[in-house]
Amino acid sequence: MRRALIALMLLATSVRFDAASPIRYRFSFPEPQHRWMQVEATFTELPAGPLELRMSRSSPGRYSLHDFAKNVYDVHAFDAGGRELITTRPDPYGWNVAAHGGSVTAKYKVFGDRVDGTYLAIDTTHAHINMPAAIMWAHGLDDRPVAVTLEQPAGMRWQVATQLHVDRSPDDAKAGGDRYEFSAPNLQYLMDSPVEFGPVVMRQFTVGPRTFRFALHHTGTDAELDSYLKDVEKIVRQEGAIYGEFPEYEPGHYTFLADYLPYASGDGMEHRNSTVMTASGSIASARTLLLDTVAHEFFHCWNVGRQVRGIWCGPQRR
Ligand SMILES: [Zn+2]
Repeated sequence: MRRALIALMLLATSVRFDAASPIRYRFSFPEPQHRWMQVEATFTELPAGPLELRMSRSSPGRYSLHDFAKNVYDVHAFDAGGRELITTRPDPYGWNVAAHGGSVTAKYKVFGDRVDGTYLAIDTTHAHINMPAAIMWAHGLDDRPVAVTLEQPAGMRWQVATQLHVDRSPDDAKAGGDRYEFSAPNLQYLMDSPVEFGPVVMRQFTVGPRTFRFALHHTGTDAELDSYLKDVEKIVRQEGAIYGEFPEYEPGHYTFLADYLPYASGDGMEHRNSTVMTASGSIASARTLLLDTVAHEFFHCWNVGRQVRGIWCGPQRR
């Protein structure tokens, strides 16, 4: 009985232990004018054997190869004591760390100059991030929870729009630093969660028990957005009426992430609890076309956008 109890306690401890060791990503922007982001990814409590770090080859919903490793450079790995570790390149998409002592922090830069639903864009106006284009992940650790920190670039007061769960924002009374903290239950949810970090204007409305947020980065006016949102709300209500109910959005809301900027590429990409919509046109110049994308992307709430996707994992697991 006592042995069984001890075994049970050990089991409970190991379960808690597992849940308590999230993979941590830190994004910072020391030189946004040069269009790169500094990423720190920390993996702890690692099993014995090589740590296989990978960049994705594709992205959820974008059914084509993009080989995001091509934009990654200045890659270094360190152990828990800050000593640099040896990395090898088994293929163009990966970095292996053979000897690590159970903890690895990978540090690298990633270049991004494309505002769309596939890549990332870093500049002095925002950081527009599609996760598969930005993060290095590790084979076998998909089920671990993930914590993401975004550091405010010097002199900026950017806001974040994302379907990630918000743990802390600089506006929180408890916040000690100029940073945002988010979490995802696992790698798959993180990969499906784009982030717009910039001077976004956020509006929200409710339909029944559901909350919808519209986060816009644009060059137009607040009055244009408010008028535009009346049409967005009509679309949301009508599509809800077609299906008879809305899905339950896990973060407590669904978020439209829109970048209507002269330097954006035209795109729309659905995600589980959000969508990214990018266009070079403005509300003033292309209202109907932009609403067309809103209507298309929001239909994915019921069609494709909330199904489990498995193609972003990159090279086949051995
Ligand atoms: Zn933006």
